[in-house]
This record gives sequence, structure tokens and C-alpha cells, in this order.
Amino acid sequence: MTPTKTPLLQVTDLVRHYALPREKLLGPPPTVKALNGVSFEVQAGRSVGIVGESGSGKSTIARLVMALDKPTSGSVKLEGRELHALSKDELRTARRDFQMVFQDPYGSLDPRQTVARIVAEPLEALAQVSRKEQRERAAESLAAVGLRPTDLDKYPHEFSGGQRQRIAIARALITRPKLIVADEPVSALDVSVQAQVLNLMQDLQQQFGISYLLISHDLAVVTHLCDEVCVVFKGQIVERGTPQKLFANAQHPYTRTLLGAVLQAPGH
Ligand code: ADP
Ligand code: MG
Repeated sequence: MTPTKTPLLQVTDLVRHYALPREKLLGPPPTVKALNGVSFEVQAGRSVGIVGESGSGKSTIARLVMALDKPTSGSVKLEGRELHALSKDELRTARRDFQMVFQDPYGSLDPRQTVARIVAEPLEALAQVSRKEQRERAAESLAAVGLRPTDLDKYPHEFSGGQRQRIAIARALITRPKLIVADEPVSALDVSVQAQVLNLMQDLQQQFGISYLLISHDLAVVTHLCDEVCVVFKGQIVERGTPQKLFANAQHPYTRTLLGAVLQAPGH
């Protein structure tokens, strides 16, 4: 028997309820049930897509997997270690293995910092990386996303939306992570630029053996890059499978709605 490999990421029965401000003096405060028991795995070197409509709980999954928020219950394991049980110091060290790319390439880059500082920022949390080495590694990371060393001393406003998202990807790459969680990474970009950024992410996956947890409201985006797709609806995974399986044999009505949107889009 071959031993089963520990998954890179294992999410089990993840629940997140948000308490809202109390409307009445008596009685329990109302809650938003953002996630209601979500389970999935990402094997090393593979990529999983999470697709669902706005408000379905996608960003909540991303925040819990990045340890930016705590679950109401359930577990997130990175290479078998319970993420939400790590101490602050352990978490800081663990962070080199998983990085995040956000949707908004404007808001997620500090406009007052140079590209060199922005891209090197995840190294700050790791001990003993000199300024000189930070700069060298930032230059390498920029090269990997198709930007130039001369871009190091520029500021975010000097770049287009697609280039800014390349800078955000360079920042995520700099610690050589095993997993990149990308929450709507191309949603703010023009359609033509979306394909370029997705192709870059695909190249990087092959080059560095990165896994993505790719989150999008757009089924076409996740099927471009992912081996497996999970469809979330109201805080639950209602369907999952390879892109081929979903395209050929969608069972859930919501998946069919998503498919309808893809098949009607120009270019399909
Ligand atoms: P998505 O990313 O799929 O659009 P989210 O994960 O952002 O969805 O949100 C899921 C649900 O949880 C939504 O109903 C949203 O309003 C709610 N929600 C998210 N964050 C909070 C919060 N901090 N407080 C209260 N409700 C929240
Ligand atoms: Mg979201």
C-alpha cells in the first residue's frame, strides 16, 4: 500500500458565523452564517479553485486559510499542522509557506512605498535578511513576473492595473511559498489583461511548483488554472470536480447558472 501523502492544505468542516450588532435589548444577537461546514484539500503542486457568487463566503475562506481571521469551528491544516493553534512566532515563520494576492491592485499596494519595499515586505517578518539581500530578491521576484530591475525604485501609481497585479504576485513569490491564496486576483482587470495575468500565474506554477487556492466569481477564471473546482453557495460547497466534469455534467442548479455565464461570454 502506498502511504497517502499529507495534503499541503486541508480544510475540514470550517464554520464562520459573524455576530451582528444586537437589534433588540433582549434575545441573542443576530448572526450571519458566512460559512457552514466547508471541507476541501489542496495537494502539493496542485491547484484548487473556489467559485461562487458575491456573498457566498469565498473571501471568508481566504481569510481563514491565511489566518487573518479565526473560525467559529473547524480546522485548517498546513502540511498537517493546525494553523489556528500556532503561536504568533510559529505563525510568523509558517507565513513564508503561504502568501496571498488580493483583488484590488490599487488598494493592496501602499502608494507611499517603492516597489522594492513593497515586494520585499514579506521578508521583514523573517529573521536576518539584510536590506541588500531584500533588494536582490525583490529584483529576482520582479524578473519572474516580467518586470524590470529598474522598476524597483518606482511607486505603484507609475504602473498599469495589470502591472500592479504583477507586483502583488512578485511580493507573494518572494518567500518562495508553497501555496498562494489569490482572492479575485484578476477581477479588477480588463478582460485582455486578465488572460495575461492568469497565464503568468500558470507559468509560475510550473516553474516553482506553487499551488494556488484561486478564488473567483467567474468559473472561466478558475477552470483556466485549477485541477479541481469547488462551487460554493451560501457558505457551503454544493459541487466539486475537475473542470471537465463540471462542464460535462453539472448537477447543482447554481453550477449550471455559472456555466451559462461562461458559455455565453465572448470567446467561448
Ligand atoms: P464573498 O467573498 O463570496 O463575496 P464573503 O466571504 O466576503 O463573500 O462574505 C460572506 C458573507 O459573510 C456575506 O453575507 C458577508 O456580508 C458576510 N460577512 C463577511 N465578513 C463579515 C464581517 N466581518 N461581519 C459581518 N458579516 C460579514
Ligand atoms: Mg470576496
